[in-house]
Amino acid sequence: MSETRNVVIIGSGCSGHTAALYTARANLKPLVIEGHEPGGQLSLTTMVENFPGFPEGIMGPQLVENMRKQAERFGAEYRMAHLTSADLSQRPFVLHIGHNVVHAQTLIIASGASARWLGLPHEQQLIGHGVSSCATCDGFFFTGKEIVVVGGGDSAMEEALFLTRFATKVTIIHRRDTFRASKIMLERAQKNDKIQFLTDTIVEDVHDAGKQEVTSLKLRNVKTGEVSDFPTSALFLGIGHVPNAKMFEGQLDMDADGYLKTHNYVFTRVHGVYACGDVQDRRYRQAITAAGTGCMAAIEAEKFLEAHAK
Ligand code: NAP
Repeated sequence: MSETRNVVIIGSGCSGHTAALYTARANLKPLVIEGHEPGGQLSLTTMVENFPGFPEGIMGPQLVENMRKQAERFGAEYRMAHLTSADLSQRPFVLHIGHNVVHAQTLIIASGASARWLGLPHEQQLIGHGVSSCATCDGFFFTGKEIVVVGGGDSAMEEALFLTRFATKVTIIHRRDTFRASKIMLERAQKNDKIQFLTDTIVEDVHDAGKQEVTSLKLRNVKTGEVSDFPTSALFLGIGHVPNAKMFEGQLDMDADGYLKTHNYVFTRVHGVYACGDVQDRRYRQAITAAGTGCMAAIEAEKFLEAHAK
């Protein structure tokens, strides 16, 4: 099956929904490819307190659901599928989406970023058995247990605070003794009686893959070199994200960490292809900035189509 669309949007997080809303309201009937993580990072978070317009805050999943409904109201079409490969050397661009081919006059890449893993010897074997990158998804399973969160940024603080609802104790393990987290988030964690901090420490492995459950971590103090065994029931990672841009390797410019390079905010080096949100933003990475660049990408796609109308 093959079809040609004015606008195809890859990704259904904050930037993708916003691009969908704007292009739908421009009557371009955008097709949104939802991707592996529908709703993006907001769908895995709890209370969002810094998205303007919600003085009491709003739950992340509710916020993205609202955005989607708003875009659908104006005619955006969502498809549960993911992009496997793309040929951007000709226009319309050729997109392989599952078993289908979609031709796109313009392409908006809003594929976001996915959780980063530590790369421990037994980490992958224990994902879903005590190793997790999503506190809201998996925290409940560790009710009454002790939990470790790795990281020193806002994500780690947020996860740790959320996990105190279930755990008897949460230990934040961070590789340095200064924190990237915002002051307000760090202070909230520091003030919480259930949270303790272990700094200058890295996790070298997680046990016990044989039992299919997390029983302890092998830790190393980076200052003293001391190695220790740390009993715990779960290992949650809050160590940032990696951009989902691999499928454009060789066709679009990327920086050393795989973020898509853009100029004038959302332009890639291919005319008619725009990138927005966390896949191109390593600096701000906020819901509101993702929405902002989603809007810009949509406006540029609209202008491009206007200029190239036959
Ligand atoms: P981040 O700010 O990049 O922090 C990642 C943390 O993980 C850093 O402390 C880093 O350590 C650590 N880390 C990275 N790789 C590691 C590794 N291999 N081993 C051990 N530690 C590792 O990422 P983030 O916390 O996900 O935040 C991303 C953005 O989202 C930020 O702009 C943040 O403000 C925003 N955010 C906001 C909220 C909120 O406002 N409620 C919530 C979540 C996220 P180093 O510090 O040593 O590099």
